Amino acid sequence: MAAAKRIVIVGIPGVGKTSLVNTIVEKIKSSGKTVLVKSFGSAMLEEARRNGIRDRDVIRCLPTKEQENLQRTAAERIANEECDVIIIDTHAFISTTSGYYPGLPENILRILKPTNYISVSAKPEEIYNRRMNDPTRNRDLVTMNIIKQELDLQAAVISACSVVSGSPVKPIVNREGRLVEAANDVIRAIGL
Ligand code: ATP
Ligand code: AMP
Ligand code: MG
Repeated sequence: MAAAKRIVIVGIPGVGKTSLVNTIVEKIKSSGKTVLVKSFGSAMLEEARRNGIRDRDVIRCLPTKEQENLQRTAAERIANEECDVIIIDTHAFISTTSGYYPGLPENILRILKPTNYISVSAKPEEIYNRRMNDPTRNRDLVTMNIIKQELDLQAAVISACSVVSGSPVKPIVNREGRLVEAANDVIRAIGL
C-alpha cells in the first residue's frame, strides 16, 4: 500500500537536500513518529550496480535511455514501500550531456503520486562553495551564473510538477549554518 504522505524534496546539486533530509529524520525520530527516507539516486545506483556502476555521479553521464530505465525502476521500487510517510530525496532535473533531463517526468509522477513538494534553494554563492568544499562527491563544476539559471529552472519545473499532481510546493531556503531552521520549516510545511 502506498504511503499516505509522499513528500518529494528537490534541489540542485550541493544545495543541501541530503543534509536537510538527515536533519528532518533526526527531528521526527525524536518526536516518536515513523518515517521512511528514500534517496532516488541511491535507488538508481542499486539498479546500476548490476551493470558495474559504482559511483552515483556516473549515472548522469549514461545514455539517456539507460537513465530513463534506471529512473523508472527506482520509482517503482520507492512506490512499493509500505509506510505512513515517505520522503524522497531527488532532483527536479538532472544536468546531462544532452541537456536538462526531467527528474520527475509525467510517467514518474504517475508512479510516485507525490502529495507534497519541497523545493530547496540557497544563495548561489553558498551552493557554489558547498559543491567546491565537499570531497565526498564528484559534482560538476559550474559558474555562479549557471547556478542562478538552474535555480530559476528548478522553480519553473517544480511548478509544472505541482500542476500535474495537484499537490502543493513549499519553497525552503537552506541558509548557511542553519540546517535545523530549514528542517523545522519543512516539518511545519508537511504537518509532521
Ligand atoms: P546532491 O544533489 O549532489 O546529492 P545535496 O543537495 O544532497 O547534493 P548535500 O550533500 O546535502 O547536498 O550538501 C552539500 C554540502 O553542503 C555538504 O558538504 C553539506 O555538509 C553542506 N551543507 C548542506 N547544508 C548546509 C548548510 N545549511 N550550511 C552549511 N553547509 C551545508
Ligand atoms: P544524488 O545523490 O541526489 O545527487 O543522486 C545521484 C544521481 O542519481 C544524480 O546525479 C542523478 O544522475 C540520479 N538521479 C537522482 N534523482 C533522479 C531522478 N529523479 N531522475 C533521474 N535521475 C536521478
Ligand atoms: Mg544528496
